[in-house]
Amino acid sequence: MRTAEIRQRWLDFFSSRGHTVVPSASLISEDPSLLFTVAGMVPFIPYMVGERTPPWKRATSVQKCVRTSDIEEVGKTTRHGTFFQMNGNFSFGDYFKEGAIRFAWELITTPQADGGYGFDPEIVWVTVYEDDDEARQLWKSIAGLPDERIQSRDKKDNYWHTGQPGPAGPCSEIYIDRGPKYGLEGGPIADEDRYIEIWNLVFMQYAIDQVTSKTDFRVVRELAQKNIDTGMGLERVAFLLQGVDNMYEIDEVFPVILAAQKISGRTYGANHDDDVRMRVVADHVRSALMLISDGVTPSNEGRGYVLRRLLRRTVRSMRLLGVEQRTFGDLFPVSRDAMQSSYPEVGANFERISRIAYAEEEAFRRTLAAGTTILDTAVAGVKAASPTAPKLTGEQAFTLHDTYGFPIDLTLEMAAEQGVAVDEKAFRALMQTQRQRARADALAKKTGNVDASAYQALQRDLAAPVEFLGYTDQTARV
Ligand code: ATP
Ligand code: MG
Ligand code: MG
Ligand code: MG
Repeated sequence: MRTAEIRQRWLDFFSSRGHTVVPSASLISEDPSLLFTVAGMVPFIPYMVGERTPPWKRATSVQKCVRTSDIEEVGKTTRHGTFFQMNGNFSFGDYFKEGAIRFAWELITTPQADGGYGFDPEIVWVTVYEDDDEARQLWKSIAGLPDERIQSRDKKDNYWHTGQPGPAGPCSEIYIDRGPKYGLEGGPIADEDRYIEIWNLVFMQYAIDQVTSKTDFRVVRELAQKNIDTGMGLERVAFLLQGVDNMYEIDEVFPVILAAQKISGRTYGANHDDDVRMRVVADHVRSALMLISDGVTPSNEGRGYVLRRLLRRTVRSMRLLGVEQRTFGDLFPVSRDAMQSSYPEVGANFERISRIAYAEEEAFRRTLAAGTTILDTAVAGVKAASPTAPKLTGEQAFTLHDTYGFPIDLTLEMAAEQGVAVDEKAFRALMQTQRQRARADALAKKTGNVDASAYQALQRDLAAPVEFLGYTDQTARV
């Protein structure tokens, strides 16, 4: 079943059951605390937390999502994309736990000929929150699941809240067993690569406060109006129904792998590292296409930096596949063709999308040409000096950044490929010193050096040991 059809079946199923179809919101979230829309419920948060009155009792959507936190997983696991689509059904004080479980079970197991996804009920497993006996009982009575296919998980995995006082509640996740060929027995708590999580049901049931962490908060009361929020990974269902190994091999993504294969002359499936690179290329090209279409442009901070990183990782992955020449002109149109039946805007915006992407490719090729020799020389030097634990100094990483425009991620990745570590702490300290100096200079300029005391205070500051900021700096590492 093609991805577009799985998506349409979802919308048909829920709209014929009283849900209003709400179009996908932009990837650029309206919520200023989020870089991107990371889940189907994000556009519905104001209704969930009671800030706005929902115009519907029931709604459904297929939401475009970007999760940069999953970037390192891409191509290595079978199931994490930076861009993906989340199908959702939502109830605002209407049906609750029983209704949500009933709908989910029905859609998953109804035969394809009758409009469902047609999964064999025998390969469905679920998890419930450990105290949620109600959910466990419902899975038994509605789906007839035996106890051993209903696994319990604690707050870390199966409890939802926003991190703020407000609504919260237990979750129940649905998994499909891919069979012994893919890993260990024992259900999702034993092996999440054999048992693929497809759908998360969130039961917003309580009001909480005193939230200090994911697992530490106080339940104040049961909510008068209970809500349902669910999210199903469209690509995950697609890869299971299309009988392929992973989400990068579905109809909306695989054509780019084929293009990368053709350009590089390497064969997908022949070598693990090359496979990962081709999957990264296919994933990142698609994410970049969708992000630029929604108005993101490459820059050195925030959303623009995420986009820049995706585009640069694509260039690098193609280089590691042995391709030195430009490739975006061959990759982006393929991704557009795979996506535009569901997202006509990528066709309509393609002139702009390609202009932005191709310019970034060109700029990055110049950066790489300038810095790669410097990096390689430095790497060879530290390897010769310390063959057992070679490490680039903070100064070396800083020079690459400052003089050659190599972001630290790139230095880290390229050094790691050659088995070399980087003194990141020293690099960050140098970055901070540079920032403080820039601030001091700006201040000196503004005051014409009149206010010597402020300048001296800043200089004292510069001399003091610098605190390691780690990864809190979002522009440093996304
Ligand atoms: P996982 O444990 O596999 O990382 P998750 O628990 O983080 O998934 P949820 O936050 O529950 O995912 O999101 C709801 C659904 O969205 C998941 O059940 C899954 O089907 C899908 N999903 C989540 N992250 C991704 C991703 N990076 N790529 C593709 N689909 C995803
Ligand atoms: Mg996850
Ligand atoms: Mg999970
Ligand atoms: Mg989940």
